[in-house]
Amino acid sequence: MSTYRDSDPLAFGDDLGPEKIVYLRTPSVGLRAIVVIDNTAAGPAIGGTRMAPDVSAIECFRLARAMTLKNATSGLRHGGAKSVIFGDPGMPTAQKEQLIRAFATAIAPLETYIPGPDMGTDETAMGWVHDEIGRSVGLPAEIGGIPLDQIGATGFGVAIAAEIAAPFAGVSLEGARVVLQGFGAVGEHTARFLEEKGARLVGVADIAGAVTDPEGLDIEALARLKKAGKSVAEYPRGRVLSNESLVAVPCDIWIPAARPDALRGDNVARLNCRLVVQGANVPVTREAERFMFERGIVSVPDFIANAGGVIAAAVEYDGGVKSTAFAAIEEKVGGNTRVTLERARDLKIPPIDAGLSLATDRLQKIMQLRRWR
Ligand code: NAD
Repeated sequence: MSTYRDSDPLAFGDDLGPEKIVYLRTPSVGLRAIVVIDNTAAGPAIGGTRMAPDVSAIECFRLARAMTLKNATSGLRHGGAKSVIFGDPGMPTAQKEQLIRAFATAIAPLETYIPGPDMGTDETAMGWVHDEIGRSVGLPAEIGGIPLDQIGATGFGVAIAAEIAAPFAGVSLEGARVVLQGFGAVGEHTARFLEEKGARLVGVADIAGAVTDPEGLDIEALARLKKAGKSVAEYPRGRVLSNESLVAVPCDIWIPAARPDALRGDNVARLNCRLVVQGANVPVTREAERFMFERGIVSVPDFIANAGGVIAAAVEYDGGVKSTAFAAIEEKVGGNTRVTLERARDLKIPPIDAGLSLATDRLQKIMQLRRWR
């Protein structure tokens, strides 16, 4: 069975999927979007809707596969999918609403796909989708949603994964130095939850720049900058550096929480940490995983570490509440991180391979239950 990290999955697919790749176009409103429904063996597929100018079918497929693995590993009754909309997420609200509503109308017939928020979309966008077709997760609280990004569901899980993984990497969370690439919904909450556990943020980047301070960055001051529409690079203290230089900032835990392929063959050797916890989706290439394994850097795979959002989404879909979601995240993300790292340690294999074998074991069992395989 091949994996979502293979080079050209769309050309042939594999035993898991994808089941459907749908290109959507509504010229009158400028909608161009792609939906990849990867695998629905466990149930209707949940996966975020990403809006960015530079998305692609391959990115969409890789993200959909990550959702298949994540949902299976987390024991959810949902398969994996993803969608991407080509566009600038910062466009005027009225235009964005029109585009998202057109997208919702276009996916109405894809009944096995349940969209959720992702980079460039949020609870409000999911509210518009729900209004159009009655099918989305990550809804605003006012209509019964568990607002995943507001409560920091994914960041909470990333912090739990870091806590469980720390001893495997010889790191103590108390006083641990953390670097975060991305200070959005995932990054900001991860920073807060890790600070509550005794860690200290010493470096952070957003799309416009990066800043580092070995003495520790003030997370609330960074949040205020973000709220004011400014970059973290405008932080008044510390040292400003380029996005690419963030990878080399000395720390104990390095957390990608932005775009795919943040750690690659051409930059992974610059890492100066003991633990990587993958907050973003597909942020580490195979080559970089292999390098980290050989160097003894522990790396918690994305579909293990960042499952908090989709676990909360599944709880919401079942009519559950926030406290149930947090308990489920703690149990599932914490448990999976431990099992994955123990398996990796015992078999002397990279955690990515241990995690993939865990996910595919579960998926194969789920697929055996199906009439049409
Ligand atoms: P977001 O849009 O809220 O934030 C993204 C952050 O990354 C922003 O601070 C942005 O400025 C920064 N960024 C973008 N490009 C960058 C670059 N080249 N260098 C440095 N920083 C850059 O998105 P989010 O919801 O926080 O998602 C971040 C990642 O986590 C994505 O990969 C997403 O798929 C993944 N993820 C999100 C959730 C969720 O619940 N939101 C769940 C699982 C995985």
